[in-house]
Amino acid sequence: MKSRKELERTIDKRIRWVVEYAYKHSPYYHKLFKERGLTPSDIKGREDLKKIPITTKKELIEGQPPKGDFSFFSRDPKNRKIFRFYTSGTKGLPKILALSEQELDLVIEISKRAFEMAGIRRGDVVLNCYPIGINASGMLTVLTFASMGVEQISAGVSPFPPKLSLIKTHKPRAMTALTSYADRLAREISLQGVDPSTLGIEVIVVAGEASTRKKRERIAEEFNAEVYNLYGTTEGRMPLAMECSEHNLHVMEDGNYLMLYDPKTGDFIENEGEKGVDVMTTLNYVGKGLGTPLINYSHGDTFEFISDKCGCGSIFRVISDVWRADDAIVISGAKIDPAEIEAVLHEPGNFKKLTGEWEMLVDFDEEERVYDLLLRIEARGKPEEELGEKVKRELMELNYPLANETSMGRIRFRVEVVGRGGLELYKVPGKPKRISDKRKS
Ligand SMILES: [Zn+2]
Repeated sequence: MKSRKELERTIDKRIRWVVEYAYKHSPYYHKLFKERGLTPSDIKGREDLKKIPITTKKELIEGQPPKGDFSFFSRDPKNRKIFRFYTSGTKGLPKILALSEQELDLVIEISKRAFEMAGIRRGDVVLNCYPIGINASGMLTVLTFASMGVEQISAGVSPFPPKLSLIKTHKPRAMTALTSYADRLAREISLQGVDPSTLGIEVIVVAGEASTRKKRERIAEEFNAEVYNLYGTTEGRMPLAMECSEHNLHVMEDGNYLMLYDPKTGDFIENEGEKGVDVMTTLNYVGKGLGTPLINYSHGDTFEFISDKCGCGSIFRVISDVWRADDAIVISGAKIDPAEIEAVLHEPGNFKKLTGEWEMLVDFDEEERVYDLLLRIEARGKPEEELGEKVKRELMELNYPLANETSMGRIRFRVEVVGRGGLELYKVPGKPKRISDKRKS
């Protein structure tokens, strides 16, 4: 694809096809279209998607057992569902998504493009540390690397064999990992007396969690590598967006088409530079089916469109860093964003004494009708109580509703400093569950 115009024509064609396919084969979308008096011929391209209501993970979960009958899965007998993936369910129930044999080629085409943007090439030795299992990212990365002719070590997140010994033995030029995992690995390697920057890793593709540019730059510095951010979801099946050589996040618009809307008004957002919540439509080659076609599906992730021009010459639109719905939490009306916590912990004065790792426990005291909010942070050395007080103060300065609810006695907010390795999240492999919300259990 050479021009933006050509790309847009391709997107429109694929949208028409996916709408037709979903209408025919997805019980959920067939019903939705009927209810709204819509037929596939009403949807000619990107603009017409705005006629279709937004679907969220609530409907997706209701459509799957135990409540539903997989009403989102296509019922196309000619197109086998070769994978059934589960989302990590970091907050709430996991979602179940099917991937069909007819969409594997597109998944690999787009994933390959993303890894090539990070400079990964045929013949490269790559250490793949994405969690490999029931989620989509690890498995599909394995298939993508295999088709690229990359020499991969599919290590996953298991502690054995230790990553340092794998790196020393195979000398990978590139590594893939969850952002928090790459960060933690650098620290673990340093603790073993080895400087991660001497290991020869040139490229790291981080994914799976919202991360600040600052955090990625620190990982880059620790490994002396280029770090590229990949935004992907199980629902999207492949990278939704990938960072280029200029470190701008480009949307892979021919794999999944993204729009934004304002959840307060329900209106779609047209302007660049205006923050909104994502709306995704899964695409495929015309004539090829999908396992779980999704039209105007919202993950609840927040970002903004920045521009459609970038120094790297790509024709794909650029978006800002993505804040994931899974990450934020609301307590007594106060919204707490992990980005705020990370900003305070990574503030140079604090970061000298803290590792930057944290976890949060939320509970509700039925007797006293008050929310308990416990933030646990990890110290590099001896845990000092004053450090906890300082972090608490700084967080409340940053978050007025939290400060207000705390002073009104509706939230009991405590910050506890623990020693190295003292966080609960270390006990569970995979995507770290930073927030445990006991109100739901
Ligand atoms: Zn670019």
